[in-house]
Amino acid sequence: MTERPQGPRSLPITLAAVIVASLFTLAPGSTRPAVAAHPEAAPPSLASPATVVGPSAVTPGSVNRTSVNLNASYAVTLALRYGSRAFSVDSTATITNTSGASIDRIELNTIAARLGGMTLRYVQVDGVNVARRVKDQTIIVPLGGILAAGATVKVRVKYHATLRSSLAGSNWLFTKVNGIVDAYRWIPWVSRETPFSRPNHGDPFVTPVSPLVQLRIVTDRTLRFAINANRMSVSANGLTQTFEARNVRDVTITAAPDFRTRTTYVGKIQVRYFYRSGSNAATILDAAADAIRAYQARVGPYPYTTFKVAQSAGGYGMESPGMIWIPYGHGSANLRYLVSHEAAHQWFYSLVGNDQARQPFADEATADFLAREITRTRRGSRCSTGLLDRSIYSYSSACYYEIVYIQGGNLLNEARRRMGSTAFWAALRKYVAAHRFGLTGTSTLLRTLDNSTSVDLSKLFRPRFPKYY
Ligand SMILES: [Zn+2]
Repeated sequence: MTERPQGPRSLPITLAAVIVASLFTLAPGSTRPAVAAHPEAAPPSLASPATVVGPSAVTPGSVNRTSVNLNASYAVTLALRYGSRAFSVDSTATITNTSGASIDRIELNTIAARLGGMTLRYVQVDGVNVARRVKDQTIIVPLGGILAAGATVKVRVKYHATLRSSLAGSNWLFTKVNGIVDAYRWIPWVSRETPFSRPNHGDPFVTPVSPLVQLRIVTDRTLRFAINANRMSVSANGLTQTFEARNVRDVTITAAPDFRTRTTYVGKIQVRYFYRSGSNAATILDAAADAIRAYQARVGPYPYTTFKVAQSAGGYGMESPGMIWIPYGHGSANLRYLVSHEAAHQWFYSLVGNDQARQPFADEATADFLAREITRTRRGSRCSTGLLDRSIYSYSSACYYEIVYIQGGNLLNEARRRMGSTAFWAALRKYVAAHRFGLTGTSTLLRTLDNSTSVDLSKLFRPRFPKYY
């Protein structure tokens, strides 16, 4: 990292508050208004320079504790230069400590720290600079004291980064290639320290849901965005657009000057494909609609009003809440399967969250099981039988997919065979409903299945999940 070290709090809180308050007095227009209720209303001025007024809820002391169980809303401004790939973010998270106990630091994840050459301009807690630390993809934010259960703090992060220009390694997650901007996990998001480097293409993320994300995106030329948020306004010159998302684990950006769209419906759910290259567009849209329809019948209602499929810059298929990426240039082989797999993550990852890095079975085995179920592509594994309770860091590149996805999906299918389809699907529906917008994991999934049948599934699960049995 190239960031400059900073000292601890540079101003006493009360003095900072006075200064901030006077800024508000001088520039009342910079305060954050309620979000425009109608798209034609004036764009809200998000993440205004002054982010807090009044005393901080942080009190002296330390507890050496953080949590992912925090209620965090984000107001974010992104300045994106399409030509130079410059990517500047000013994000204010309003965080209420809902963890039930005191915390004294917050851990924010962003892959801009690993892929974007991120330079932190500053990190502020209630308007005061703090001595943050960047470790891997995590910005560790000391609160400078204790935030009691139920108390609220504002954490503002301002960074500059540059999108990559290739698809190599993990670059496809934060890049501009083939005329398309991809930005995954770019908002510094409440999470826990999680290593980004892994020997495979597992998802190194832990992703609690935010009730509200407000975005203002300013671009140097008009861009069409495929983003898992609703557009609320656009400026007359087309260069400033605002968006809002509710109950999402992330907000992902895909953008191109010339995205075209194709739309269909599943009931009242709008399914829309954004693309530059239109080959396979009909197949992709059809597969997406079929998948949503099929999964709703099996595991419960899709939670949003739109489902977006975006042609990404390239790389791999990827899931976001309410949106998936299908990589540019992906041929017709396996296309229905790929769309179906990513769509299945709308239930397993998006609706029911898990620690994707440490318990990939919970989202990948379930998603692959569903995809191969509806596309009738179940098959045997090309790797020898492995444990299914490991983190993504423990599987080789050659066998991660074959063990966690294929063997994991086949294990779920065997559970279904033993307990019967009716009981099996009822158990999955129960699991989804019980953990809707929450964070749970493999152990809960297995126990929900086992508790939903008189058949003893522990005999099936124990050898593959020694960590949990
Ligand atoms: Zn997946």
